[in-house]
Amino acid sequence: MHCPFCQHEDTRVIDSRLADEGSAVRRRRECPHCGERFSTFETAEIKLPSIVKSDGRREPFDERKLRTSFERALQKRPVSAGAIDKAVSEVIRALRHAGERELPSLRLGECVMAELKKLDHVAYVRFASVYRSFEDVQAFREEIERLERDLPSFDGLQLPLLDTLEKRSK
Ligand SMILES: [Zn+2]
Repeated sequence: MHCPFCQHEDTRVIDSRLADEGSAVRRRRECPHCGERFSTFETAEIKLPSIVKSDGRREPFDERKLRTSFERALQKRPVSAGAIDKAVSEVIRALRHAGERELPSLRLGECVMAELKKLDHVAYVRFASVYRSFEDVQAFREEIERLERDLPSFDGLQLPLLDTLEKRSK
């Protein structure tokens, strides 16, 4: 690789380490000509799928939007920024692994729900209640009942959520 400072034709790798939990390599390089140092990142070039919305529109996958979904659902919940980073990486990993060129937004939502479920049950229900179509009241009710069984302290949350759900589905 050419030196970005003096354009010298060759630069030397002086350090190389894994970054982004192993999905990238960060190399520290030095120019033997001018002595400047700089870093390069190497990542696999695997395209993420376009997201197909329910009305059929397509949009490129947007990592920032994904992070915002997590942050909204996890507002005021005891979950660290690092844990959110990890959940975002997990979703991206799942998308890459699926290897599809297009993905319905519904499937993306399911990936987010799967990660939220591991992180925080309250955030999970928050997200599910907004995300899932209210036509699917029965499925949502079943989900809440399932959570109740898994998590005894869930009681306080159930009634307000179901009230909201019933009002909005009328
Ligand atoms: Zn140089």
